[in-house]
Amino acid sequence: MPSFDRAAFLLSAPSLKQCPPDLGAEVAFVGRSNAGKSSAINALTRNGKLARTSKTPGRTQLLNFFELDSERRLVDLPGYGYAKVSERIKLEWQENLTQYLEERASLRGLILLADVRLPLQPFDLNFIDWAHQAGIPVHLLLTKADKLKRGPANSNLLKIMAGLKNLGLEETVTGQLFSSTKKTGLEELKTQLTEWLEVINPDQEED
Ligand code: GDP
Repeated sequence: MPSFDRAAFLLSAPSLKQCPPDLGAEVAFVGRSNAGKSSAINALTRNGKLARTSKTPGRTQLLNFFELDSERRLVDLPGYGYAKVSERIKLEWQENLTQYLEERASLRGLILLADVRLPLQPFDLNFIDWAHQAGIPVHLLLTKADKLKRGPANSNLLKIMAGLKNLGLEETVTGQLFSSTKKTGLEELKTQLTEWLEVINPDQEED
């Protein structure tokens, strides 16, 4: 398992051209603003500074890369949830995001964060649809699970997953409950990330 608490800020990229070399493996985090993305990245890396990086003015529209080790990265896609920007900037962002999803070879999976108390929003469903078309798996992190009792939280998880199955998306999306405050679901998240971030040694691949 990578040591998530060694994550260090690498760079902010305004477009695909400025991303670090497309080698090794990376997993990107997305979510509408207030979904709990910064808190989740904070809980995972135990580094409050990292999550704040993406809220620094000027970095809100970019891809922010955090390095775990020389071959593995976490990526924060802050612009996805950023509401207070013009339509022109939103369109520009969408183009960059689509290009990133379609062309980034080292992108192994997406962590989509959404509040467990709400149904998935059009933005979330659009995003899952893009990922589905680009053939990239999505792991849904239903955040703020501590705000519901266990029964209702589980039933919301089941309802959301059943809705995705009805849309034919069950092979693209997995899901779990999560709470940054209580740290519930943290091990399950780490297991998913570790699976995606496994780097295949080219020498072994040839055998
Ligand atoms: P972001 O905009 O997606 O990065 O969201 P933040 O991580 O900044 O969280 C938005 C708000 O929700 C903040 O007030 C957080 O304290 C709160 N929050 C985030 N995660 C949790 C959680 O797991 N439980 C509870 N109770 N509150 C949370």
